[in-house]
Amino acid sequence: MSKTRSNYFPQACKVIPGGVNSPVRAWKSVGGRPVFVSHAKGSKIFDVSGKEYIDYVLSWGPLILGHAHSKITAAICNKAKKGTSFGAPTPAETQMAKLISEAIPSMELIRMTSSGTEATMTAIRLARGFTGRDMIAKLDGCYHGHSDSLLIKAGSGVATFGIPGSPGIPADLTRLTLSLPYNDIDTLQKAIETYGSRLAAIIVEPVAGNMGVVPPRNGFLDKLRKLTAQYGIVLIFDEVITGFRFTFGGYQNLTEVKPDLTCLGKIIGGGLPVGAIGGRKEIMEKLAPTGDIYQAGTLSGNPLAMSAGLTTLNILKTKKNSFLKLDEKTNRLCKAMQDLFAAKGIAVCINCVHSMFTIFFQTGPVYDLDTAQKSDTMMFARFFHGMLKNGIWLAPSQFEAGFLSFAHTQKDIDKTIDSCSKTLRNL
Ligand SMILES: *Cc1c(COP(=O)(O)O)cnc(C)c1O
Repeated sequence: MSKTRSNYFPQACKVIPGGVNSPVRAWKSVGGRPVFVSHAKGSKIFDVSGKEYIDYVLSWGPLILGHAHSKITAAICNKAKKGTSFGAPTPAETQMAKLISEAIPSMELIRMTSSGTEATMTAIRLARGFTGRDMIAKLDGCYHGHSDSLLIKAGSGVATFGIPGSPGIPADLTRLTLSLPYNDIDTLQKAIETYGSRLAAIIVEPVAGNMGVVPPRNGFLDKLRKLTAQYGIVLIFDEVITGFRFTFGGYQNLTEVKPDLTCLGKIIGGGLPVGAIGGRKEIMEKLAPTGDIYQAGTLSGNPLAMSAGLTTLNILKTKKNSFLKLDEKTNRLCKAMQDLFAAKGIAVCINCVHSMFTIFFQTGPVYDLDTAQKSDTMMFARFFHGMLKNGIWLAPSQFEAGFLSFAHTQKDIDKTIDSCSKTLRNL
C-alpha cells in the first residue's frame, strides 16, 4: 500500500515539472512529498492509500459546499450527456450573468472566462484601453493570477515599481506596475498624488488571501475608492476568493465601497474551471464585439462550468442566513486553536475573517506582506506535518488561507481541535 503511494510522486516528476500542475501543490516550503488524492466527499478528502482527512484547502477556495455535492455532480453529469462545448451562446450564460449581476449590482455587464487569471488579465487590459494610460498599481502580497503585468514582486521601498516575479517577464513591462504596501493609507496617498494621472487601474484583493488572510484596515478601501475616483483610475476588486465566500455576493456587498470592475472565479465555477469579469457598463462595453478591446476564449461560458456554477449559486442563494453559522464555526475553531497554542506557550497570530483563516506563527499583528513574512515558517512546517498525520488537510504553506465549507460539521471542528491538541503535544 505505502509502496504504491510513494511511487506516484517520482513517476509524476518524470513527466510533469516538479510533479505538479500548479506550484502551490508541491510541498517545497514544508518539505516532503505531496500526498496524492484519490477522491473526496463533503468535508473529507481521501489519499491514494485510503487515509481520510478533514479538508481545509477545498481546492484553494472554490468548494464552499464541500466536495462532490450531489446536486452539483448531477447537474454536471446531465449537462455532459447533452454536449460539453458548442462555441456558440447558450441560455445558461445569460442566467449566470443575470444571477451574478443581481447579487453584485456593480457588475452591470459580465464576461465569463475559464480562469481567474484570464479575468484579472482582461481587467487590466480593459482599464488601460478605457483610460488610455499604461501604468497600473497593485498591493504587495496580493495575488491576481500569473499574467505578466500582475506577477511582480514588491521592490525594496515603500512605493516602488515592481520587479519581475519570475524570469521570462520583461522588466520593461513590470516597470509599468507600481507596487504599494497593503493597508498603508499614507503611502497610497503619496503614490497616487505622484503617479495618479498616469495610472489606468489599481487592483486589490479587498480581503487579502494570498499572503495568508489579511483583512483591510478600517478606512483603507474607502480611501482607495476616494483617491481612484478623484484621479480617474479604474478600481478593480479581485474577488476571485472573496466572491460568494462571505455572503451571497462579494465582499463589496458588506461595505459601502464599490469598485469599477470586479473579477470573480473559484466559487462561481462550483469546482470547474471558471472566471468572470464585470463592472460599469461604460467600461465593459469597450470589450469586443461592442468595443475594440479584444478578449476571447474557446471554452468561455462552458456549459459544464455554467451548470456547476449556477447550481452552486442557486444553493448559496437559499443559504443566505447560514453564512453567519459558517462564520461562527470558523470562529469557534480559531478560538479553540488559539487557546491550545497559548496553553503550550507558542506564539501565533490567527487572522480569521468570516470562513477564512490563517495561523501565523508569530506574535503579530499581521496587516501586510512585511509583517506576514515575520512568521516562523519552520514551525509552520512542523505543525503542517503534525496536523496531516492527525487527519487534517491544511495548505502546504504558511502564506495561504484555510477555508471552511457548509459541509464541515461541528463534529469535524471538534475532531480538528483534538488533532491540533495532539499535534501541539509533539511540537
Ligand atoms: C486564485 C486566484 C486568482 C487566479 O485564479 P485562477 O483560476 O487560478 O487563474 C486570482 N486572484 C485571486 C485573488 C486568487 O485567489
